[in-house]
Amino acid sequence: MGRALAAIQKNVNRQLRKEARNTSNGFQIGVRALSDVPNQLEFWDSQESVFAKEVGSLPAETTLEGAAQADALGLAINLDLVNQEVLDFTSTYTNEWWSRLSGSTRTAMRAAITENIATGAPLRVLESNLAPLFGRARARVIAATETTRMYAEGNRIGYRSAGVTRVEFQTVRDARVDPLCDALQGQNLAIDDEANFPPIHPRCRCWVAPVTTEGEVLKDPTAGARITTKLEEQIGKSAIGKTRNLGGGINETKMAHVRGDGDVVLKPQSGLVDRTIRTGIRPGGDLAREVSAFRVDGHLGRIGRVPETIARTDTPLGESMVQAFIGDSQTLAEIRATAGRIGSVEDFSLFDAVIGNLDRHAGNVLIDNQGRQIMIDHGLAFPERVRLTQFDGNFFYMNRVGTTGGGDITLSSEHLRLLRGFQSKRKFVTEELAGLGLEDDAIEAMWDRVAWMIDNTRYMGQQSLADMTLDLGYRTRI
Ligand SMILES: [Zn+2]
Repeated sequence: MGRALAAIQKNVNRQLRKEARNTSNGFQIGVRALSDVPNQLEFWDSQESVFAKEVGSLPAETTLEGAAQADALGLAINLDLVNQEVLDFTSTYTNEWWSRLSGSTRTAMRAAITENIATGAPLRVLESNLAPLFGRARARVIAATETTRMYAEGNRIGYRSAGVTRVEFQTVRDARVDPLCDALQGQNLAIDDEANFPPIHPRCRCWVAPVTTEGEVLKDPTAGARITTKLEEQIGKSAIGKTRNLGGGINETKMAHVRGDGDVVLKPQSGLVDRTIRTGIRPGGDLAREVSAFRVDGHLGRIGRVPETIARTDTPLGESMVQAFIGDSQTLAEIRATAGRIGSVEDFSLFDAVIGNLDRHAGNVLIDNQGRQIMIDHGLAFPERVRLTQFDGNFFYMNRVGTTGGGDITLSSEHLRLLRGFQSKRKFVTEELAGLGLEDDAIEAMWDRVAWMIDNTRYMGQQSLADMTLDLGYRTRI
């Protein structure tokens, strides 16, 4: 959404400048020309194309994910019917979305232009007054609201195809739930109850659960509160002792003891290098990325065995990543010196491809005293875009694709299942990661990689990434 708005902003500013140039003929003509921009049908029609191109297949994908929820809950859905209804819905949806978006944008523009003319301020003041209309905050509100709308419609389509006639309104039950939605929590609704279907308000995150003919409310256990491990809780609240240097990597890394018999690794926000290390990775966002990698690993069945990772502000070093320390372990680099290559790499290859890790090497794979491989250091994952030459640091590429000349490595059926399950939780995972502070574009890019791997049943290495850039069906950020 951010990209669509940014593109439209550019065009709007260009159009305003073009019309303002007419002022050389006299002030009144210019005023009329400027005021006319929000009303120029031809101009706004062309912006609809910009919008539709950016939105692409997202509505169909999201609606299908909502419908797939019915399947995940064990309902017997009618796939032909679902596909047809999703098609029917999305054929008009993008257009309606654009009507809502352009309508509110043009209304706000009219007010800003009127004020600008009244004050006689220069055009750049008008442009900066209009900036929030096209900014990240608005993009985020729109994306969240519309995702909820598409997902709820998908729920409806999926549930209905399985013969469900009643649903129960569900909020995400956290402190940020709007009072309007809180009042609806748990209410039994007819499946066609348009007025009470999410979204109820901008940024609404609610959804609907199906009620079976026996009256049972089916809920996805993954949609509710996340289950935290005991260790995660411990490192999240225990007092952190004196820190000492751990070294390794380019960012400051410390170690400390926590009460309750454990050690943790700390990466303080203040110790992060303040320069771009990889294209598409914003400096300073490491904490959100490290915690996100741990959370994504959890959703993928912990295939990466990423140690418990959280962000805390109350450490002796201020805001820091706090991660369980894996004692009695060696890095793969140390092991390799004596034992050569070890173990299966597919789990980690999948994990790295999902999180878009641009920094996997034998120094950030630990082998614990039971021979298990543990992935650490994810500060350079979740790129908003990737340059091809950077992705070949990918562990899988180094170990398998690299040695098979970039050959076609098919996803295992187990991994395909994991990815599908992960994708079906898209709405919830997106909210979770955004809540951790991960950039919207980085989250979107992750879903692009996941969709690509599912559609092609291949792991992603450098060659796959090259293929993906050629595939116009994907809005790749490369
Ligand atoms: Zn809501």
